[in-house]
Amino acid sequence: MSATIIDGKAFAAKVRGKVAEHVARLQKDHGITPGLAVILVGEDPASAVYVRNKGKQTLEVGMASIEHKLPADVSQDELYALIDRLNGDPQVHGILCQFPVPDHLSETEIVARIDPAKDVDGLHVINAGLLATGQRAMVSCTPLGCLMMLRDTLGSLSGLDAVVIGRSNLVGKPMAQLLLGESCTVTIAHSRTRDLQSVVGRADIVVAAVGRPEMVPGAWIKEGATVIDVGINRIPAPERGEGKTRLVGDVDFASAAERAGAITPVPGGVGPMTIACLLANTVTACCRANGLPEPEGLTA
Ligand code: NDP
Repeated sequence: MSATIIDGKAFAAKVRGKVAEHVARLQKDHGITPGLAVILVGEDPASAVYVRNKGKQTLEVGMASIEHKLPADVSQDELYALIDRLNGDPQVHGILCQFPVPDHLSETEIVARIDPAKDVDGLHVINAGLLATGQRAMVSCTPLGCLMMLRDTLGSLSGLDAVVIGRSNLVGKPMAQLLLGESCTVTIAHSRTRDLQSVVGRADIVVAAVGRPEMVPGAWIKEGATVIDVGINRIPAPERGEGKTRLVGDVDFASAAERAGAITPVPGGVGPMTIACLLANTVTACCRANGLPEPEGLTA
């Protein structure tokens, strides 16, 4: 079998298109512009690139982008005062702090300070609890993107066997909750799982979120399964020249594509969906804040 390649770049463009349409409607019918505030602490170059990309895409869909750049030695009190101000600002519907932050600040406490209704990264314990109990939550962007791609590829997921490899609060756990919400039979695998091969071999859906280059060989994949590869790993690529690198996922793409029914590539699979879902979450948060119907197809 040769798998269908799930084009995350094209899918993300479609999601951004839907967000833009909804934003235009909110402006036209209600005079509301959704606003996303991003806080960057320090000068980490990779974080600065992420924040720039987020700001650019936010503006492209017609939303307001509010960036706050704070020095690396900003005090906890100053940072919390900013978050409190954004929590109370009716023009701001989504707030995120770009991680990692310098060691003197606590990521857990920063997330806890953000109003759960504006927590568009879906990391607040209130949102994790709402998701776990099957209630309306803000859902972490990467798993939300994976769910959208799975629904688009498979239609109903009900009754399918799914394995999520990885149990982080950011990806693995919310992914498993979402799949449970779709009535999949869900297995969560992690570093202590005894026989990962047989767990993966049973699954109709494999979501790999580990961070170990090509750790899942294609031979493990059940014929026709759908494979969502969240992993982003940079490995040496001497064939491209001295010192060159390339990105690979947690799944060995070439051999898995021989057995899977559908598979996401790395790069160009899950990656582009994450920012698209951040924008989707912001427009959803804006609708909820204003008591308006939520955009269709952009929520869990
Ligand atoms: P974490 O490091 O927080 O979690 C990794 C998980 O993998 C842990 O639960 C760990 O288990 C598990 N694990 C480690 N080794 C093994 C193993 N040998 N077998 C099975 N499970 C194992 O990572 P994240 O969840 O934050 O990210 C995972 C990957 O996804 C990374 O490559 C990251 O870069 C990528 N990512 C991509 C995004 C995107 O936009 N596409 C967004 C977010 C992440 P244990 O708990 O037992 O230690």
